[in-house]
Amino acid sequence: MKEELKRCPFCGGKAEIREIATRTSSIDGFYVMCTKCKTSGDNYSKAETATRAWNIRTEAET
Ligand SMILES: [Zn+2]
Repeated sequence: MKEELKRCPFCGGKAEIREIATRTSSIDGFYVMCTKCKTSGDNYSKAETATRAWNIRTEAET
């Protein structure tokens, strides 16, 4: 079960997971980006890690 992404700590917008694609179109990593203010989190090799890092940051900011 995937962890739910929390809303953006800055604007309250919807956040979503994005894949970092390389030129060879393989997945190089993941990051979370706010669809509203375009704030983005750090890059991680796993989607779950990026999600967790975003959620922890959200809790810290609010
Ligand atoms: Zn935002």
